[in-house]
Amino acid sequence: MATSFIDKARITVRAGKGGNGAVSFHREKYVAAGGPDGGDGGQGGSIIVQVDDNMSTLMDFRYKRKYVAENGVDGQGARKSGKDGKSLTIKVPRGTLIRDAETNEIIKDMSDSEPFVLCRGGKGGWGNTHFATPTRQVPRFAKAGLPGESHDVVLELKLLADVGLVGFPNVGKSTLLSVVSKAQPKIANYHFTTLYPNLGVVYVDEGVSFVMADIPGIIEGASGGAGLGHDFLRHIDRCRLLVHVVDVSGSEGRDPVADFDAICEELKQYSPELATRPQIVAANKTDICETTEGLDALRRHVEALGYPLYEISAAAHKGTRELVRKVAEALSALPPVAVYEPEYVPRPAEVDTSAPLSIEVVDGVWIVEGPWLQRLIANTNFGDYESRNWFDKMLRESGLFARMEEMGIQDGDTVSMYNLEFDYQR
Ligand code: GDP
Ligand code: MG
Repeated sequence: MATSFIDKARITVRAGKGGNGAVSFHREKYVAAGGPDGGDGGQGGSIIVQVDDNMSTLMDFRYKRKYVAENGVDGQGARKSGKDGKSLTIKVPRGTLIRDAETNEIIKDMSDSEPFVLCRGGKGGWGNTHFATPTRQVPRFAKAGLPGESHDVVLELKLLADVGLVGFPNVGKSTLLSVVSKAQPKIANYHFTTLYPNLGVVYVDEGVSFVMADIPGIIEGASGGAGLGHDFLRHIDRCRLLVHVVDVSGSEGRDPVADFDAICEELKQYSPELATRPQIVAANKTDICETTEGLDALRRHVEALGYPLYEISAAAHKGTRELVRKVAEALSALPPVAVYEPEYVPRPAEVDTSAPLSIEVVDGVWIVEGPWLQRLIANTNFGDYESRNWFDKMLRESGLFARMEEMGIQDGDTVSMYNLEFDYQR
């Protein structure tokens, strides 16, 4: 196999910057002094994430790691607004978790079809048209556009399936999936044939169906890092029920009871919670059983643990209808597939406030600008009290207000910072 299954990827996304507002005055022959007519900058494009059901891996993210949306265009004279930047839509397979790369917190579980705005584009700056007032008829300033949000995120695929197949390699999991659904997983008589998880829809009766996932086989010791397996267990994290396939034929010299326990132990090592998930045991390869010794021992063992057991032969299509009926019945009493709640809380970004800001007084308005201030404003949610407080604290600590006092600012003077305008209050 040329490439392995890619179910995790780290990418950087950045929304577009807002365009700058324009400073411009209406000019016409024989008109001495026209009014301000600088147009607004366009809004920066956003980064949007959307589920695409034609995708089943995160392979596309292996080589392309940076996603940048278009910037907004600057405004122009004659009240011409700049064009908005185009948003960029990133497509992901259903069941992809978006996590913050630093904290690993879940930002969003992409399991529904709603587009999700991951990063908002920066607001365009206002043109000077907006700043004309009866006492300020010639506003010689406009606002710069704000930077767009950016984020380093990890995409992690966790399949959405009702039922997960577990069991040793070669016990017949892929065969079972191919028999009960239209999925066509690779089937071969050697271990580790399944390198990609496979999903199949199992139709049971009219209106009754479920999704079954076949993941690469677990082998004993996977939790200790041996071979494949452990990483793939995350794909059954959401499953409502596990079908535990055991080879009871003894054809490979396997001991069904020991196999069953070993897999349960692997599940437990990966996640104690997963080990308590409801299980239905499928005793497979009954068509080539020479004795029923192994089968009987397994039945006693699992029934004592409270798991139902069904005898099947996946290859001979024996008992498989009965099995999927029982699975559907069990599912009808279980809660729906888990959808993860967001955990990520945006934190105020670290902004280095040591560089001095530019302070300019134009027509009695204190215009404050500078790269870090731009970033600070873009990162502040002014609708949120804590966020506003933090913004205020950063400004105070930067020494900005002290400098403005020295320059003679008075209570009630207008202060203008990009898209903010407020009256100064000591
Ligand atoms: P997986 O590794 O668990 O997915 O196992 P596969 O589905 O790839 O099957 C492994 C081998 O066992 C293949 O050669 C299958 O044809 C064979 N096999 C699967 N189910 C049965 C069965 O019910 N009876 C017999 N005799 N062979 C089976
Ligand atoms: Mg397989």
